[in-house]
Amino acid sequence: MDLTVNVSELREQVASCCRFLSIAGVMDDFGHLSARLPDGKLLVSPLGVTASAVRPADILIVDLDGRRLEGEGVVPGEVVIHTRIYRARTDLQSILHYHPHYVNLCGIAGLKYEPVYLYGVVFRDGVGLYDDPELIRRPEQGDAVAGAMGRFAAVILRGHGAVVAGENVQETLCYALFLEENAKMLYQASLAGKARAFTQDEIDRCYQSFWATRLAVRRVWLGLESRAKRAEG
Ligand SMILES: [Zn+2]
Repeated sequence: MDLTVNVSELREQVASCCRFLSIAGVMDDFGHLSARLPDGKLLVSPLGVTASAVRPADILIVDLDGRRLEGEGVVPGEVVIHTRIYRARTDLQSILHYHPHYVNLCGIAGLKYEPVYLYGVVFRDGVGLYDDPELIRRPEQGDAVAGAMGRFAAVILRGHGAVVAGENVQETLCYALFLEENAKMLYQASLAGKARAFTQDEIDRCYQSFWATRLAVRRVWLGLESRAKRAEG
């Protein structure tokens, strides 16, 4: 395997994904995205570069203790979210920490996060809740977030944001968008009345037709790639 090619491709993917998340309106100046390299080191977007402007050359390489090995930028203060979850979950290859508006509202309002909308079925197994709004700077806090996440693809950090993680950058992008979309429906429907959650049978059938094949992953990526090209000229 040519690791050089993988590193540059992954760098490109991480930088593109940051810009896509910005275009989709779910990532502000404070989130960060990472991907695990074949040698176990991590690519991570730097602190202080707005998501809409992240370029492949900005992406840092850090070790599993969050120490910068390559790159000029500053390692995000909350890098332990990434390092501790990667240590706990060998199945995950890409992690995003962000501050999505409607997900935050659901967490603050104490709404039970469950599928009320088609996109939400990707979280059919559930979503974790980390019940402490403090910034996550210490390894033991990162471990607690990993514990709250458990085997799920997402964990809501009450009063702070969320973490989503997938088997690759493209899947993580989908989780980021779908967590927020379902939260938006859940929150707004709760204002209008009672949000009607899917039954287990509905969740299972929707999961099979919408998510099991992962065909949506490619469509979401290509759709945002084309929007980004138009936006960036
Ligand atoms: Zn944060």
